[in-house]
Amino acid sequence: MIKEIEIVCPPGQQDDQEVLKKLSASALKISPQKVNAVHVYKRSIDARGRRVVYRMQVKVYVDEIYHPETYTTQYPDVKQAKPVVIVGAGPAGLFAALQCIEMGLKPIVIERGKPVKERRRDLANINKQGLVNPESNYCFGEGGAGTYSDGKLYTRSTKRGDVNAVLKTFTAHGASEDILVDARPHIGTNKLPQIITAIRETILNAGGKVLFDTKVTGLLADFGKIQGVRLALGDTIKANAVILATGHSARDVFEMLHRQNILIEAKPFALGVRIEHPQEIIDQAQYHCEHRGPDLPPSYYNLVEQVDGRGVFSFCMCPGGIIAPCATEEEEIVVNGWSPSKRNNPFANSGTVVQINLEDVKGDNADPFKMLNFQHSIEQVAYKAGGGKLVAPAQRMVDFVNGRLSADLPENSYLPGTKSVELKEVLPTWISNRLRDALPVFGKKMKGYFTNEAILVGVESRTSSPVKIPRDKETLQHPQVQGLFPCGEGAGYAGGIISAAIDGINCAVAAGKII
Ligand code: FAD
Repeated sequence: MIKEIEIVCPPGQQDDQEVLKKLSASALKISPQKVNAVHVYKRSIDARGRRVVYRMQVKVYVDEIYHPETYTTQYPDVKQAKPVVIVGAGPAGLFAALQCIEMGLKPIVIERGKPVKERRRDLANINKQGLVNPESNYCFGEGGAGTYSDGKLYTRSTKRGDVNAVLKTFTAHGASEDILVDARPHIGTNKLPQIITAIRETILNAGGKVLFDTKVTGLLADFGKIQGVRLALGDTIKANAVILATGHSARDVFEMLHRQNILIEAKPFALGVRIEHPQEIIDQAQYHCEHRGPDLPPSYYNLVEQVDGRGVFSFCMCPGGIIAPCATEEEEIVVNGWSPSKRNNPFANSGTVVQINLEDVKGDNADPFKMLNFQHSIEQVAYKAGGGKLVAPAQRMVDFVNGRLSADLPENSYLPGTKSVELKEVLPTWISNRLRDALPVFGKKMKGYFTNEAILVGVESRTSSPVKIPRDKETLQHPQVQGLFPCGEGAGYAGGIISAAIDGINCAVAAGKII
């Protein structure tokens, strides 16, 4: 007999089968000898009470043998199959490619950046010398923006597709099975590159293609029908379906579409700063303790407040993380965050941003580049304020709220360096005022949050795409170009690794219907 129950377990013992058997037996009021195995299928930390505990949903195998599920992948040979061109090897592009193979189609993945390993050298140049390679950086290259990220795998968009199927695919390519169980699964920057490499190998082994250092600079379309793509060196690749999954930072792709009279639209997004605290402060607030101890993971937070008609919210929180320089061009500053699988850095960071609507920004709403130009101008102001070489403008939290230049800055994780600047000089008043008003309120919601030990680093500007590439709701094709599938975060249909992967799968399924 298999029984599904909920048990509560002290931290540090959540992986101990003997403890779980005893707890389950006690909950079921049976002898522990009758329990053959306990399989945990959902696990979360409950810090609401005085005692922090693991709350676990488990299947208890009473006098029953447990056969663990194995996660492997079997894909058909698609060497001779009809091609689908996929532009971009981010989560959207890679999962679109796997889905194409499952459907017996041959994916040709075209990526402007380098394979994950080679990408590392360019990231070192960014961090150590402040030099950005516009083709290979934190946003461009194999695995896309998701590769050197925190690898958080939770999403609010469960309605768009099968989140579990995406998690299982990650597991089949080397991710820990913990991601199938944890309420807030994450992989970590140190583990993601191997997983991305394994996905590429699956694509190649099945007969698909992955082209690196290859930039798409034009679409081939005839009478409103896609014919393929043109590459930077002039050659072309033909296909009746093109999945365009180029991410939110490929500004030249938006320009390419506009140049070719393919409709794009300005889109609201959010902008602000990245805020970093000592991790200990966050742990003390969330776990109500002096020290977290070795049995609990570094804690996270999620904060939101309405200020003057706009949402101000924390975003992409990285416990035990590092603030990353994510510019894709010279002379701009963009920050984001990542963390290793153990999340064992001494700082906790999160984007803290203000929702921006089209009417907030001067200019014509019909101009598709209105929001993108606004985003870019702030990134350039931030660069100048930092003084060059990706040094980021920064301010202590209480100083920012009190309108005081910080006399010095706390130690922080941003490697290119920080410079004390009044951030209200970098951000438009209507953004900085909302942040200023929200931070003390966040401090009331979370004890210890509002402190001058926290640093604000500017600017967190690539929260989502400032441009939308429209598509038909049913067919997922661009309304003007049959066979063109705008996909993932850059087109405005995803926000994060999982939702981008799901959108990639959905676009591949849609492409399969017209090929
Ligand atoms: P992208 O990942 O942006 O991929 C687009 C790809 O297209 C890139 O590889 C790019 O090089 C390529 N490309 C662009 N133009 C061309 C062209 N003309 N020709 C050929 N190739 C081209 N999300 C989470 O869910 N959890 C996290 O923990 C998380 N942390 C993050 C940390 C950082 C530092 C960053 C930058 C992002 C993070 N994100 C996180 C966001 C997440 O990475 C993105 O939402 C996701 O990668 C979007 O997937 P995508 O496939 O749509 O686009």
